[in-house]
Amino acid sequence: MLNPHTVLKNTFGYSNFRPGQEKVIDLVLEGQNVLAVMPTGAGKSLCYQVPALVNPGVTLVISPLISLMKDQIDSLHQNGIEAAALNSATPQEEVNPILRQAYEGKIKLLYVTPERLAMDYFRYQLNFLDISLVAVDEAHCISQWGHDFRPAYRQIMAGIKALKSQPNILALTATATPAVQDDIANQLAIPKENRVITSFARPNLSFSVVNSPKDNNLYIYKYIHNHQDEAGIVYTNTRKKVEDLTNYLAKKGISVAAYHGGLPADERAQVQDAFQFDQVQVIVATNAFGMGIDKSNVRFVIHANSARNLESYYQEAGRAGRDGDPCEAVMLYKPGDLRTYRWFIENSDADEKYQKVQYTKLAKITQYANTSECLQQFIVRYFGQDCPPCGKCSNCLDKRELMDITQTAKKVIAVVYELDGRFGKNIVAQVAVGSKNQRMKELDAEQLDHYDSLKMPQNEAISLINYLVANGYLEQVGDQYPVVHVTNKGWDVLDGKQQVFRRQPQEVSQVRQENADN
Ligand code: ADP
Ligand code: ZN
Repeated sequence: MLNPHTVLKNTFGYSNFRPGQEKVIDLVLEGQNVLAVMPTGAGKSLCYQVPALVNPGVTLVISPLISLMKDQIDSLHQNGIEAAALNSATPQEEVNPILRQAYEGKIKLLYVTPERLAMDYFRYQLNFLDISLVAVDEAHCISQWGHDFRPAYRQIMAGIKALKSQPNILALTATATPAVQDDIANQLAIPKENRVITSFARPNLSFSVVNSPKDNNLYIYKYIHNHQDEAGIVYTNTRKKVEDLTNYLAKKGISVAAYHGGLPADERAQVQDAFQFDQVQVIVATNAFGMGIDKSNVRFVIHANSARNLESYYQEAGRAGRDGDPCEAVMLYKPGDLRTYRWFIENSDADEKYQKVQYTKLAKITQYANTSECLQQFIVRYFGQDCPPCGKCSNCLDKRELMDITQTAKKVIAVVYELDGRFGKNIVAQVAVGSKNQRMKELDAEQLDHYDSLKMPQNEAISLINYLVANGYLEQVGDQYPVVHVTNKGWDVLDGKQQVFRRQPQEVSQVRQENADN
């Protein structure tokens, strides 16, 4: 039997395994079912590619995207490894020859979509092959608790069980909360001790949140202008915004190209290549851009309109700095951004349960945007781990003075208490600032003790509520239309046992703005 180290060196040209890789590979070669959770760029593919070459027979790789398969196969071919894909783009007359090559041992890795594995006839054909391992890529797609649920993933286990050669399973993902990890492990029969989870922290990445910038486009322009020789990606959430922002930046002389699913395939391929080979500095894109991109020197990723959930955010932001050098992830946030994402959820075909999960994830992004904790720590904790404060995110670097806002906070918490957890944050804010709208009349709000107790504009009151939620004084309960409750920590404020501090308010996070202005 070949030795994994030899394969790593001779075939891939690397001298050392990266954290987690060797452990995963050893377990896989022992014939165990394994779950590998490693951040984007950590080198997950190698965890099944090396065993594929060490093992006799074929490794079946289940992958959700045709473009991902194509990129993988191209790079395997470059390393002299025989691999092929079977998906909806494969012409019918090529299917049998590919299967024959696999049967003859000429193909070591066979990539298929979960949909194909669900087909009875394909399962029958697979039984002629000696399949030693099934790698399930993007394994979080199996879980309804994840952010990218894909129904065909649910049938993977049935497909694997139907295989005569009884291969073992390696599930891989970059983004799985503890609930999603459990779900994957249950569905794919992976024992607890066979989970290999490397650190989620990305020490070379500095995170920042810019809360409600005055002018998004101008902020982005200045940022890019001050990072002139650096490759970057700007994500926004609609094709129209991609076009608009690209035009705006191009007019200002930035080397920029647009990428979204509405562009013809050849144009997308061109843009991707131009970026890969440093012919264009910045890509403005929807979330269609990035899967399978293996550009190591991306120095910044800006989210122009918040993000739909922390999983996607971390994955997209994680495309920066794969080479390990310092890089930045900036999220511009406006409360209104969330409306677009709500709309996406409302209008998706997903069932009610899945929609609910997505609303909860959206609430988490609001927390991320409003927390005063270390941003890296916030993300890592979301994925069920811990790390010390990073010392370089916009919160860690925030030098603004802390103000004691206990008295103001008390007023808001008192309104939430008085409304008895029946309303969302907009109504809470309207009551607190004494709004005179129709809804207030209907609720007879003027009769409430704490009506009109807060002297500030309504949008500031909402921002304050977001801050109190993000820092655990209040909590939002429910999914699509969450209501606000007082937490134990909030009770302590009402009881005078706990003070609330907040940084001096300002239009934009000065730390990064100064960076951008330099
Ligand atoms: P992931 O799927 O985890 O996002 P990839 O498998 O695409 O990451 O790997 C990211 C990059 O790291 C690839 O260019 C890959 O060739 C490289 N890589 C993987 N393992 C090693 C290693 N042990 N040493 C050096 N480079 C590696
Ligand atoms: Zn930090």
